[in-house]
Amino acid sequence: MQIEKVYEPGRFEPHWAQWWIDSGIFAASSADTRRVFSLVIPPPNVTGVLHIGHMLEHTEIDVTIRFHRMLGDNTLWLPGTDHAGIATQMVVARQLAEEGINYRDLGREKFEERVWAWKAQSGDTIKRQMIRLGASCDWSRERFTLDPGLSRAVREVFVRLYEKGLIYRGEYMVNWCPDCQTAISDLETAHVDVQGSLWHIQYPVNGMPGRFLTVATTRPETMLGDTAVAINAKDDRYLDLHGKTVQLPLMDREIPIILDDLADPKFGTGVVKVTPAHDINDFEAGKRHNLPKIQVINEHAKMTAAAGPYAGLDRFEARKRVVADLEKIGALVKVEPYQLSLGTCQRSKTPVEPLISTQWFVKTKPLAEKAIEVVENGQVEFIPANWVKTYNEWMYNIRDWCISRQLWWGHRIPAWHCGECKETVVAREAPTTCPRCGSENLKQDTDVLDTWFSSGLWPFSTLGWPDQTEDLARYYPTSLLITGFDILFFWVARMVMLGCEFMGEVPFRQVYIHGLVRDADRQKMSKTKGNVVDPLVVTEKYGTDAVRMALLQGAAPGTDIVLTEERMESSRAFANKIWNAARFLFMNAPETAADQPDGEMPVEDRWIFSRLNAAAEASNRAIEQYRYHEYAQLVWHFFWHEFCDWYLELKKVSGVGWENAVRAFETALRLLHPAMPFLTEELWQRLETTGARPKSIALSRFPQPNAEWNQPGVEAELGILQDIVTMARTLRTESKLDPKQQFAGVLYCRTASLAIAERHAVAIQKLARVTLEFKAEAAPKAVAMRSNAEFDLVLDIPKAQDDPVRRQKEIEQLEKNIANSERQLNDPVFMSKAPAKVIDTIRAKLADYKTQLEKLK
Ligand SMILES: [Zn+2]
Ligand SMILES: [Zn+2]
Repeated sequence: MQIEKVYEPGRFEPHWAQWWIDSGIFAASSADTRRVFSLVIPPPNVTGVLHIGHMLEHTEIDVTIRFHRMLGDNTLWLPGTDHAGIATQMVVARQLAEEGINYRDLGREKFEERVWAWKAQSGDTIKRQMIRLGASCDWSRERFTLDPGLSRAVREVFVRLYEKGLIYRGEYMVNWCPDCQTAISDLETAHVDVQGSLWHIQYPVNGMPGRFLTVATTRPETMLGDTAVAINAKDDRYLDLHGKTVQLPLMDREIPIILDDLADPKFGTGVVKVTPAHDINDFEAGKRHNLPKIQVINEHAKMTAAAGPYAGLDRFEARKRVVADLEKIGALVKVEPYQLSLGTCQRSKTPVEPLISTQWFVKTKPLAEKAIEVVENGQVEFIPANWVKTYNEWMYNIRDWCISRQLWWGHRIPAWHCGECKETVVAREAPTTCPRCGSENLKQDTDVLDTWFSSGLWPFSTLGWPDQTEDLARYYPTSLLITGFDILFFWVARMVMLGCEFMGEVPFRQVYIHGLVRDADRQKMSKTKGNVVDPLVVTEKYGTDAVRMALLQGAAPGTDIVLTEERMESSRAFANKIWNAARFLFMNAPETAADQPDGEMPVEDRWIFSRLNAAAEASNRAIEQYRYHEYAQLVWHFFWHEFCDWYLELKKVSGVGWENAVRAFETALRLLHPAMPFLTEELWQRLETTGARPKSIALSRFPQPNAEWNQPGVEAELGILQDIVTMARTLRTESKLDPKQQFAGVLYCRTASLAIAERHAVAIQKLARVTLEFKAEAAPKAVAMRSNAEFDLVLDIPKAQDDPVRRQKEIEQLEKNIANSERQLNDPVFMSKAPAKVIDTIRAKLADYKTQLEKLK
């Protein structure tokens, strides 16, 4: 067996990435009757390139998927991308703009062609990147939200919801983005705190000279569209004015004074202006009081003809002019600075304009009821569980979902409007004539659906619905969803609602919500801060496996993940350690490793299998519970501190049973495979074992706990050996002895452990470079001595090396240690929080410090 000197992941990672795909080992089969584990990917935007957040998500998914595949489950990770309506449209529109073309001039069809051409060219960037990073998806089942099959599912869902009365078209106040020229949902609206002003404006009461009502507003230009002022029924100050009218300044319009809770007696003057066409709360109040809606701002954020002399002005210009004019006529009482939360478009950062428009809506309340129920009764489990609260808060306060978007890229709404009788026809296929009047003058609705409408169907549309496919029967409901908290509402909640409605069954059994990847200072990564880690750069630098490992080590449920260069570097060192261990093994081990060892195994072999058993048991549990950090730490500790630091060293001493070493190593590679797939495949393929085995480590068995391997007696025995070697090494370091020089010493012990220690005299001599004499008696006072509960180890060091100054320093250090430990043990806060294990360790250390101190003195 041969292995190169240097660990160079770049040499083999691309090879295995492609080989896994070519050999079809990630392909699932619906004919396979084994237990199912299925998961659909949160589809990345087709415009996307892989960022570190994807890499975290995909690594967590991949660990779980590889784990289940190795457990022998019928495992499916279904990949795909989202057409991402607004994001993609903007990318292509920007490209056209660079060519000097306004996409609107191009027309809808030509524009759509351009987007498809763009998709064909760069739409699979993210797929290539995912393959390179080892994502074990079944690419034969790759889906795109605009695939014909998925588009059919979208139309089917739309028509069924419409027929059930759960989709309607209505006048509604939407958040309108004047830049993107589309309605955007509440969720796409970002609220930013800005310093604004509160303008106090006087409206004269008609028929009562000298009497005024003062309203306060942050948007004085909207007063042009006021159709009432409101006072509160409980507010004595104004009750006599109920039924009267005020004269709207600048517009000279008479508007009523109404009683409504919109006016809060405790806020401002207690009087509010009512502008039903430009504010959501006023819109509702307008409906209650049957007020006219006067639109004074249009979809381009310009003033309309209804704004009289201000018509044609931009909304912010109009604001200046209105304020100036109010001041001129003496209607402006005062202006005060005011902190406000301004709704802006997440994409273009433009302040949104609340506008009334005709849009399509999904009536969500009836869908939400079921979606709340399945989470409450545990059919869908959130991990960490505290996300249920966030989910419920939203579901209980859910508003109708505006699903129409004024875009060209997406699923066009399957509705046709009759040019003659104005009938609207909703249908699966384009109708030729109007069912009401027979006219052929039918035009399809120009809007497309919100992107989340199609991704809400993702868990079943990707499996072939509305056809009753074998995939659907086999893989739905999916087992798990792993995603970020930022799309809990956009996506997760919609999938639960639509899955329950159309499949009569939840879309997934568990939802694991992962954290954010942060930098060394725990800062969010952002382009503006310049602290973004590009996965393609760091995987090139450290190897994919090392970056995966670095991410996993921080991936504890419910926490954000800190990713630093140091962590990636040390993960690379870890990979390198395993590489070197393999090299060492391959050079020493016999040509073939027997499947079963004959006769009694050497003690170090029984020990490593016992440790392997513990690691396997804990790793199975950790991955099952999505405690990725724990799994990563377990395999790290096993390989580095047990396999390399102790086992291989002991093996060098004993020099026998190499086939056991190879077998333990092979088992450990399988344990590590989900975390570091490339390194483990590379080494596993080079291992020559007798007997049949699968063609890839990815198809081999994940190590399971094995009672026969569990050997507490052997662990205790080797524990004694480790203690003595560690004591001797510490003593050597403390006494600043030449690390290469051999010393003699005496081990004093009055228990049966002495015989055990004596059995390992050779190993101790090799590992600690100390030749020991063993005495079953109490230790005399000595200079170079270390002790634990059972042993006193005395090193026989030359007089010259006994230094009173250093001994004094040691005494001081020990006194400091004792004080520290005692302080901790006397601290009630610490004691109430620290795990019992930690407290035990401190107690043991304290006892150890005290004995050492006594001996030194
Ligand atoms: Zn916008
Ligand atoms: Zn008609």
